[in-house]
Amino acid sequence: MGRKRKSSTGFLGRYFGYLLLPIIVYGWASGNVSAAFILIASSLAIVYMLFAVPTWCMATTRDGLGCRRNSNGLLLGCSLREHKWQKMKMAVQASKWGELFAKFWSNTSNAAAAVSAIAGTGSAIVAALALLTA
Ligand SMILES: [Zn+2]
Repeated sequence: MGRKRKSSTGFLGRYFGYLLLPIIVYGWASGNVSAAFILIASSLAIVYMLFAVPTWCMATTRDGLGCRRNSNGLLLGCSLREHKWQKMKMAVQASKWGELFAKFWSNTSNAAAAVSAIAGTGSAIVAALALLTA
């Protein structure tokens, strides 16, 4: 179990994606930030939530419980290859999305990341529409 990854980026580096959220909110609220910028910030936030945010793995283990090992991103599993594949496979099958979301809601750090990812997606869509119709 001793494999601790030393991160040179530290706390802020690991959680930088959450810093994008107030920037996006400010962009929409103030109205003087370009939609292109918001689209980029929102896209970065989505990618961060799916692939980089510190979360629990939550892949289903043999005893039917969620895996509690640390992982990065909602869609990536922990260092067990089987868990990575399990979540990736669920993500590409629309019929499994409900199950996948149930995993996200089961603990705070995953739920916060899931809400942020959804908010980022909404924001990105609105920004893209704003750009298209401008
Ligand atoms: Zn796992």
